[in-house]
Order: sequence, then structure tokens, then C-alpha cells
Amino acid sequence: MKKTLNVDPYKEYRLHSVDNEIEIVKSQRCGCYFCHSIFSARSVKDWLSDERGVSAICPECGMDTVLGDASGIQIDKQLLKNMSKQYFGDEVSFEAARAYCIRYLDSKINKTKHNEYLYEEYLKKLALSGDAPATLALSKLYQGEGSFVKEDDPKALSYLESPLLSTNTVALTDMAALYFHGDLGLEQAEAYKKGFECLTKASALGSLKAVYLLSDLYLQGIYVEKDLYFAYKLLDENYKDVYDTFAYERKGCNDFLQFNYRLGKIYEYGVGTDKDQMKSMRCFLLSLLALSYPATVDPIDPEAGKIIKEDIEKEVKALADAMHLSNASPIYDQDTYFDSFADAGEDYSPKTLKVVSWNKEEGKLSFDVDYKLTPIIVDIAGLYCGFVSGSIRWDFDHIAEVKTSTGDLTFEKVNNPSDEFWEFTHVTPEGEEVVVMAIQFYSDPVKFKELPIAQRKEKKSKKEGK
Ligand SMILES: [Zn+2]
Repeated sequence: MKKTLNVDPYKEYRLHSVDNEIEIVKSQRCGCYFCHSIFSARSVKDWLSDERGVSAICPECGMDTVLGDASGIQIDKQLLKNMSKQYFGDEVSFEAARAYCIRYLDSKINKTKHNEYLYEEYLKKLALSGDAPATLALSKLYQGEGSFVKEDDPKALSYLESPLLSTNTVALTDMAALYFHGDLGLEQAEAYKKGFECLTKASALGSLKAVYLLSDLYLQGIYVEKDLYFAYKLLDENYKDVYDTFAYERKGCNDFLQFNYRLGKIYEYGVGTDKDQMKSMRCFLLSLLALSYPATVDPIDPEAGKIIKEDIEKEVKALADAMHLSNASPIYDQDTYFDSFADAGEDYSPKTLKVVSWNKEEGKLSFDVDYKLTPIIVDIAGLYCGFVSGSIRWDFDHIAEVKTSTGDLTFEKVNNPSDEFWEFTHVTPEGEEVVVMAIQFYSDPVKFKELPIAQRKEKKSKKEGK
């Protein structure tokens, strides 16, 4: 094969478009070799800061392809056109358009009218070329996400209906929202039917948002027959999933808020299940944690979040008054352990346990648990809810008996934590459960001194006594 000498006359020039902040500030005239514009250096308002340094963004096209005359380059249209052809060809480069859109979404470009229209233009080009994320982003823009591009529900829907997005759960839930609340000019029955189908499909594809939206339909009897129990069941059955995703992956913050908010109300008023003030309070405290969490993925809509927050704070106050509770630092006792882990809280990853002291006379046990995954600690009595990292020293009382196995006290889960008999259990790779520490509480504090100790070894019989 014949070797060709690759001569690039503009290579030197191109370097001046990168890390050029000082050069641009010193310049009078600037030019862009993406869109061929020539403009005053004073009109450069956006800068791209990355590993290469700080580079000027073209005020016309949003690309990081700006040359300033302080570089000594003679800037004219012909030069810019030649360079543009050399680096981007005759067509608009999809790669460049994509880079712009990502920068725009990352808020690295000022959200001006001009820049938003550029964003729209580039998204359209990308969507036409079969780019699924761009198609979804374009629909979001027409759903009213932008500041300047006009909200247009039918247009938003037309992009969501693209085959590119047929199994995209965000697109499906967005579509459902348009069918239920949008301005599409459809018959209501027809729109609701389609909205319901979108949600069913999205929930089958694993969308937790679709689950709580479906629950809302059953709760209110919209399109479907009202079914309070089923509305509750949908939330309850998916709760562990929602909890783990937020607590241990720090994702799904909004789903976590929405599930806990709804369940908090359900337990408070006994909708489709029994009233339970403790469970209600736990859910509301967890909602407040979600609201205070700085999520970057799936963040909470600030407007909606504000309304929910006000409502939850009111509910928490009313419940706290009714239950005679006030704010306090968490106390790491068995109640807090129960509030934190018993009801969809445990992560089932290995945790190391170490007994610090055990005083049988006083019925007091101290032990440290080393958490690899930072857990959420909930102490309802102190209205406390937060992430607590590292090792936690637990001080349990009212204990009749403690038995530990010798050697390694690694456990994955606690069995029967609502009863007076708790088993910290190691699950072997084969799935066999081995108790590493068993605790028996005095069921009745009054009988503290008289109760016979550790007679109940058959753990199976315990559950029925509840
Ligand atoms: Zn430009």
C-alpha cells in the first residue's frame, strides 16, 4: 500500500480554538470554523471548561470552534470555510451537534433564546438520523421543558410515538401524561384508554413511575374501576425495589419520594389497608429525606417537590402531635433498628457484627455493626431519618438472652425483627441460613425479672404468636 503524506495546513490554527480564553479576551475579531461566522470577541459569552482547558463557545452555533485574531491568524470567510470543510465536511456534523446538545443539557451553555433554538435545531437533525435520546429530548422540549420553545403537546406526542422509543419507559410514561393531561384534541375515553395502555406497558418493562401512576388511577377510579386495595398493593409490592434503588444505589430519588408520599397517606388514613401511624410516619420521614437529597439522576421537580414538602411537613406535625413525638438525635436501640430495617430496609449484603458487651443482669447488649453500604437510619420516636455511614454501635435493652456463634459474625439479614426473638443470620452461598447471633427480648417489661429465659428455641412457632 502506498503511503500518503497527510498534510494538514490548518492543524496549527485549530490548536487556537482550544484552551483559548486569554487569547480570545485579548482579541478584537473572532471567527468560527464550524458556522463561518465572524463576530466581535466581546460577544463570546459561553465557555467550555474541560480537561483541555477553557475554550470559547461560538455565540452563533454553540460549537467550541472559535479563533481570535490575537492568535495572529488572518480571520476571513474563506479561511473559515476551508477549515470547516476540512474538519466537518459539507454536511453538519452529527458528532458536533450531539456534543452541543450534551453541553446544553449539562448547563455548560447559557440558556438564552438563541441557544435554545440551536438546541432544538440540532435535536431535530439528530432525531431525523435515528438518534433515540435526541428524539426523547426533543419531545421533552415540546412538553414545555424549555424556556423559549413553545409547548406543543401533539408535536411532543409525535416524537414519543417514534419506533425508536417503543420500549423506552420514560417515553411511555411521558406519553401517558400527555394522554391524561395534555391538549391533544382527542375524545377523553380514547385518550384515557391509550394512557392506560402506555402505563401498563411501561410498568411491565419495569418502570416504577408507571407503577405509582397506575396506583393513582385505581385510587381515584380514573379509566379503571376504583380499587383501593389494588392501589395499595401495587405500591406495597414494588416498595422494596424502590427502597433498595434509592437507599443502596442512590438512584430513583423521585420514585422513592412518590412511593413514600402515597404510602404515608395510605397508612395515615387506612386506604385499602389498615391505618398505621408508625408506618405512615416512617414513609413521611423517608419522603423528606428524598426531598433533601441532591439527586442528579431522576431529580425531583422543584415545583412539585415544594408542594409535596409543605403537605408532608403538615402531616408530620399532626402525626407527631398525636403520637407525642418531637425532634431528637437518633438513639440506636432496638426500636430504631426495627424502624430502619424491618420493613423494606435491609440490604442483604454482608455486614460484620461485633459484640461489645452483654450484661445479663441489666438485660443490656451493645454491639457494633459495620455497614459496607451506608444505610438509612430511621428513629420514628426522634423524628429522625438520614444516611448514617460507617460502623454503628447498637445498644439494645430488655434482653433476656443472647447467644452468638463462635468465630466470624458476618450476617446478611435479621429474621423475625418484629417479635421478641431476633436472629442475625448468615446466608451461605448455597442459600443455607446460619444464625450467628440470637437475641431474646422480654416481651413484657413488667415481667422483666420473672420471665423464664431462652426457652423458645423453635423460631417457627414465634411468628404465630404475633
Ligand atoms: Zn459558530
